[in-house]
Amino acid sequence: MLRFAPSPTGDMHIGNLRVALFNYIMSKQRSEPLLLRIEDTDQERNIPGKEDEILAILALFGIEHQEHQFQSNNLRFHRAMALQLLHDKKAFSCFCTPETLEASREAAKENKTAYRYDGQCENLRAEEVIDNTNPFTVRLKKPSESITVKDIIKGESTFAPNDIDSFIIMRADKLPTYDFACAVDDMLSDISLIIRGEDHLSNTPKQIAIQRALGYDRVIEYAHLPIILSIEGKKMSKRDDASSVKWLLEEGFLPDAISNYLIWIGNKTPCEIFTLKEAIKWFDLQSISKAPAQFDIDKLKFMNREHLKGLDPKELSRYVGFADEEIGRLAKIFLDEVSTLKELRVKINAIFAPKIVPDEFKEGFDVLKKLTLVAPHFDDYDSYESYLIEHSGLKGKNLFKPLRYLLSGSEHGPELNDIYTYLKNYLKEVAK
Ligand code: GLU
Repeated sequence: MLRFAPSPTGDMHIGNLRVALFNYIMSKQRSEPLLLRIEDTDQERNIPGKEDEILAILALFGIEHQEHQFQSNNLRFHRAMALQLLHDKKAFSCFCTPETLEASREAAKENKTAYRYDGQCENLRAEEVIDNTNPFTVRLKKPSESITVKDIIKGESTFAPNDIDSFIIMRADKLPTYDFACAVDDMLSDISLIIRGEDHLSNTPKQIAIQRALGYDRVIEYAHLPIILSIEGKKMSKRDDASSVKWLLEEGFLPDAISNYLIWIGNKTPCEIFTLKEAIKWFDLQSISKAPAQFDIDKLKFMNREHLKGLDPKELSRYVGFADEEIGRLAKIFLDEVSTLKELRVKINAIFAPKIVPDEFKEGFDVLKKLTLVAPHFDDYDSYESYLIEHSGLKGKNLFKPLRYLLSGSEHGPELNDIYTYLKNYLKEVAK
């Protein structure tokens, strides 16, 4: 089983979506189920409603999962496993106060050495533990041997016992730490491959140490995905709008285009424009670059335009708020100028909205408008144009400029002939 394990603590970031997509693709390739595990144990940071948002986004992108868990429902297992580790003397109770620990941390900083737990409580006698009524945490004893993480993208990295240290697995409030909850859950769900962001790479040896201490011997595969940077090469923060999946959708990027971009970026793909379904056929984690990927919104716009071009006209029509496929065809001819649905809606709405026409063309516009309202139906643009010329006496710029305002609501745009082809059944509405 594979898993996608988001925390409901903020908007879904493009990095999270990329992780979800890759997990989905690999689960399909391996015919293994995908688990959605909502990591909601950090109650202070949970934001109500975020879980529904995650579910809605996954559904919109066609990322299906077969199992759904809330990490908070597994607390009894986390506690049972912590007790087991204490019983086996692989973990110990630590009564060190936050103040003492902070002081050692400060001291390490001053000495410019890496902070390590000093082992103070590791060998307390049973009575010392039993008689102590102070709050305590549970620490896993640091492993006796180094731990090597084999990563499909990053290669091998080895962590010495001292780097792993005797770290906390249960906090004083008896809630598991992130590493402990995650390691236990992955073990209980029999996860075969973990794909996640590279910010978690330093957690991996700790999670392996926990699983080994619990006697779990399945070798889980790992793939830590390089971070996505902004075009300036900086970390994309929550303040970069484009890092939010919700923002991209609101701006009118199609889910298919966003998936295409997130699979393509920092990867070697056999082609540039593809669907998620196609990617399942050839996707290879080994082709993902080790180096950070850079998010280029212009490239995403290009891909979005390609996906918009490929849409069925009826579907495109619905996206811009109409039901008739002719409007979808009409929308397509504006794709040379725009790249998102939001921009496309502006173009289509301008056709049907009351028009603002510059004074110099106002008179001609009013004449053409009246004529169009009473004109018979013409199947082709040339006949319509001849009719207007004949009845208005306008020609050249004095005909075409106001006519363009009438048919498109703006001064520039696609060929009038093309616009007319798809708009001819709406002329009375457009001129009203
Ligand atoms: N909940 C973690 C996050 O959202 C994911 C941890 C994991 O995939 O192991 O970053």
